[in-house]
Amino acid sequence: MQKTIERIAGDSEGVTYEFPVFRFEGTDKAAPTAYLQAALHAGELPGVVAIDALMPTLAKAEAEGRIKGAITIVPWANPIGRAQYHFGEHQGRFNLGTRTNFNRAFPLLAAPDVKLLPDVSLGGADRRLKNRLVELSLSNDIVLDLHCDDEGLAYLYIHISLWPAMADCAAAIGADAVVLWSEDSSGTFEGASIMPYQNVPPSVARFDRRVVTTVEYRGMLDVDGALAASDAAGLHRLLVTRGVIEDPSIQKAGNFTGAVVPLEDIDMMPSPRAGAILYDVRPGDRVAKGDRLATIIHAPGEPGGRTEVFAPQSGFILTRRSRRIIRAGEDLLKLAGDKRSDDARSGTLED
Ligand SMILES: [Zn+2]
Repeated sequence: MQKTIERIAGDSEGVTYEFPVFRFEGTDKAAPTAYLQAALHAGELPGVVAIDALMPTLAKAEAEGRIKGAITIVPWANPIGRAQYHFGEHQGRFNLGTRTNFNRAFPLLAAPDVKLLPDVSLGGADRRLKNRLVELSLSNDIVLDLHCDDEGLAYLYIHISLWPAMADCAAAIGADAVVLWSEDSSGTFEGASIMPYQNVPPSVARFDRRVVTTVEYRGMLDVDGALAASDAAGLHRLLVTRGVIEDPSIQKAGNFTGAVVPLEDIDMMPSPRAGAILYDVRPGDRVAKGDRLATIIHAPGEPGGRTEVFAPQSGFILTRRSRRIIRAGEDLLKLAGDKRSDDARSGTLED
């Protein structure tokens, strides 16, 4: 295993950001290669600790000559967000200088060729970071971007062109649900990792072995040793199932038995009022149309001071907020519906 330090120039003299990259060389040039990154949203740590738990397994496989395809690991993908604190609170989702989401505005290339990347020498540190992450990841057959939600189930975003071919990966990871999406106009890292392969010859696209997903490892507070160990085992199983690592002691993953939900079927449930949330449901709960999901206390103790929110359709709760204060129009939860949502905003990538 080789460790190198990446350096991203900051936006003023004397500021440079650094993050480590770990590379395991493969013994078989024909084997699929893999790239794993975590904490692009810098405060989302379940993937960071899963990688920490995975590394000894990879080191053992390397020592025994069982790593077939090259593996690149970036445990802290966002040193800019990692360093951002505002009045004592960590801010890992948006660049405070530009208000840009760290998982948006990635370049969506027309083909998987890093020579097509834009010139970002004067573009700002976060754009330089995004270019570099694309350079590190793009040529790999398997690209995993490890995130988490506020509070939620373990679920994957997967582009429709890779489904159901990636069902074994969803099973390996042990996801509760898969959310299928088709369009990305905002430039997520996942979009930047799959869109370049949409209009190239099949011999380049290699959809038979391509894996691209945003892994949502439950919620922000699900940073825990036992979950990290089981998530690491899931990542290992995926790498074995797809032939990156050889390990006869691991059973390859089979069919995915969790829920598969088109992005258009997700209701985001904007809060009608600002106030304190009393939830009736938690992630994983099954709801019927008309069930109460939450009550917003906007005028405590006053007549009419409570507003109830009901399920617009039947389905299950995928995620909910971790904080209980909300403004009008902010989303209360993600309801994975049994049919298409009537909310005009549905279909937007929300990782
Ligand atoms: Zn995220």
